[in-house]
Amino acid sequence: SYALDIKDLTKTYKNGFQALKGINLRVEQGDFFALLGPNGAGKSTTIGIISSLVKKTTGSVNIFGYDLDKNLSLAKQQLGVVPQEFNFGQFEKVIDILATQAGYYGIEKNMAYAQAEKYLKKLGIWEKRDQQARMLSGGMKRRLMIARAMVHEPKLLILDEPTAGVDIELRRSMWDFLTEINQQGTTIILTTHYLEEAEMLCRNIAIIDKGLIVENTDMKSLLAKL
Ligand code: ADP
Ligand code: ADP
Repeated sequence: SYALDIKDLTKTYKNGFQALKGINLRVEQGDFFALLGPNGAGKSTTIGIISSLVKKTTGSVNIFGYDLDKNLSLAKQQLGVVPQEFNFGQFEKVIDILATQAGYYGIEKNMAYAQAEKYLKKLGIWEKRDQQARMLSGGMKRRLMIARAMVHEPKLLILDEPTAGVDIELRRSMWDFLTEINQQGTTIILTTHYLEEAEMLCRNIAIIDKGLIVENTDMKSLLAKL
């Protein structure tokens, strides 16, 4: 099966605006994939639907063979999502945020804390484990969001504009980390509006504009065309 298989996906918001006009997208297992498009193209809507935070209008989404409509909890188990906005409890302790997240996936308490430790160390925020989330810098919060998305070891990691507003040093360390986990087998999809970032990291790319996929190819072919 594909890591992600989206068929004829549409989304019309309640105000009548059609944000997705029939998206078809397939991402191979193990790929590092970019969804590139300008602001307002439909990237966040697509990710919202994949992570079942936004209700689709029509079409289907399949994650590692699990259909979102038919096998929601198994589909979710395969998936980690790093949203654009920080959305954790500001007064919660860093390590508890991760352990609680692991708990949502049915991981028992000791194992949840072990997983939390593993990913806080991997992301270089272990020394912040006992701080409240609100005390972290913007860069540290981003690392925390990636650690939280990874704590149940998903096979597919999706990041929505992961380096927006991030300084170059942190951007580089995030690129290194994402490359490393991709090499270890995790399929990665990121959205970006920077071609350079996609070029740096990704093997395959789709370009979305006004709710439609206008290009879907490997990075080398795209660059040869430009
Ligand atoms: P749905 O049709 O998926 O239920 P809603 O129309 O109820 O979505 O809107 C969901 C949320 O998005 C609301 O909180 C709303 O305030 C917010 N929202 C509305 N319009 C926009 C917009 N143009 N861009 C981003 N968010 C919006
Ligand atoms: P991107 O992530 O590519 O910037 P989005 O998926 O956030 O694009 O938005 C796509 C389009 O849908 C935009 O025109 C946005 O204003 C609109 N939109 C997003 N959320 C809502 C909502 N809840 N209600 C109405 N329109 C929305």
